[in-house]
Amino acid sequence: MAQAQAQRRRNGNIRNGNGNGSQCKENDLLLLLRERSEGQGHHHVHRLNLTSSLNKGNNAKATIVTVLALAMAILLLLFYSFSTSTSTSTRITSPSTTGTAYEALSVSVSPDSDAVINLDHGDPTMFEPFWKNAGDKATVVIPGWHTMSYFSDTSNLCWFLEPDFANQVRRLHRIVGNAVTHAHHIIVGVGSTQLIHALLFALSATATGHPVSVVSAAPFYSMYPGITDFLKSGLFRWAGDATSFKVNGSSSFIEIVCSPNNPDGTLRRAVLSTEAGKLVHDLAYYWPQYTPMRGPADEDIMLFTVSKATGHAGTRIGWALVRDADVARRMVKFIEMNSIGVSKDSQVRAARILQVISDGYELPDPDSTTSFFHFSRRLLADRWQRLRRAVEESGRFSLPQFSSKFCEFTKEHTETYPAFAWLRCDDESIEDCEGFFKSMKVLTRSGRHFGAGPEYIRISMLDRAHNFDLFVERIASLGLR
Ligand code: PMP
Repeated sequence: MAQAQAQRRRNGNIRNGNGNGSQCKENDLLLLLRERSEGQGHHHVHRLNLTSSLNKGNNAKATIVTVLALAMAILLLLFYSFSTSTSTSTRITSPSTTGTAYEALSVSVSPDSDAVINLDHGDPTMFEPFWKNAGDKATVVIPGWHTMSYFSDTSNLCWFLEPDFANQVRRLHRIVGNAVTHAHHIIVGVGSTQLIHALLFALSATATGHPVSVVSAAPFYSMYPGITDFLKSGLFRWAGDATSFKVNGSSSFIEIVCSPNNPDGTLRRAVLSTEAGKLVHDLAYYWPQYTPMRGPADEDIMLFTVSKATGHAGTRIGWALVRDADVARRMVKFIEMNSIGVSKDSQVRAARILQVISDGYELPDPDSTTSFFHFSRRLLADRWQRLRRAVEESGRFSLPQFSSKFCEFTKEHTETYPAFAWLRCDDESIEDCEGFFKSMKVLTRSGRHFGAGPEYIRISMLDRAHNFDLFVERIASLGLR
């Protein structure tokens, strides 16, 4: 048995190395035969002397069984080589596949070809390899008696803000140079989602008369309308696309400016005059892996989140940088009423995660394995390159184009690699782009949710490598038909 296992290991090497699929199958079958005969109490039969043992065999019964099994093996091999020769003709090879015959084969016959790929949500699991590699540096242990109190720092306007988390937020913004923080209060929230709720309250609570209109230029982040109208508040209501909103002297508005924009990756400025209304800058994607850093943002209200900065969506931590103390105070009030603060455990973990990134840049000799933004940017650049190639080959779709710009953080000209692909179905026979991709078992989000048309879809670029590879293969396959 041990010998058989050793042989299996050797064959495993063949499969992963230079061997081809049918060779592997053949070896596996011979091994199977051997193990069967061992199980029946027969002498172990080595692959090389299998034929001679058949010729010289003393035991007639064993010989008949072995001959029958060999005949079955040959039949199976014939069937197997027939099925592989038909499947390889329709096989799609991933551009990233280095290409042994076995690997290609595994694509064509694997159940993956049937798998549903969910790229609807922007779940940022693509960053997992960096954090796996970070190991203990990014691991947090919290003793049972820690973080028990509701309070973090009663001297701070935001009394539930963990001081270490606040320090790491300021430190990372300083290193990256994407936002000024010295004149701003930091308000921590359960993701930036809670902070958007808190801001809508804080910016409309003092308004009199009509509900405040909440707008954002289309295509806008699909959650803004839902977040605004979910509780049917009398204080504010969703009023749609900012570009078609008529500013009316008697009523005020809140414009949410998302830059780089979810879903299309463009850098944006407010489209409405700020005098009659308030601006909220959602800068969830203003980080170097997605876009060149063009200098520190210095807006009155800026939103960030670890979900998109570091990939830790499950930690549910976001932060707002708020200049005006009254607005900050009302946000704190909202969070008190909503969740009596924000998990300290999560803040402790988020602080560590941010610290690991900053240490990676501030410690001497940062290398590629410790530079989070460089690592992530390389992954995204590779994904965008492959997606653009597949889209071009398909001849049916188009993607936004971005010019390269100087990045103040990396000190080089770099391109924009958004977290989402805002894809347009140019093929007029496709009326519903989302439905078309669904028929290929790829789940995306229709442009309709973003204030755009059904010819658009949003596709997450942040999923795990395996899913993304399958997705690109499916797009590329369209060009082959
Ligand atoms: N704003 C934008 C633009 C987003 O894309 C997201 C996440 N998709 C959020 C806010 C909310 O992020 P979270 O609640 O995970 O911090």
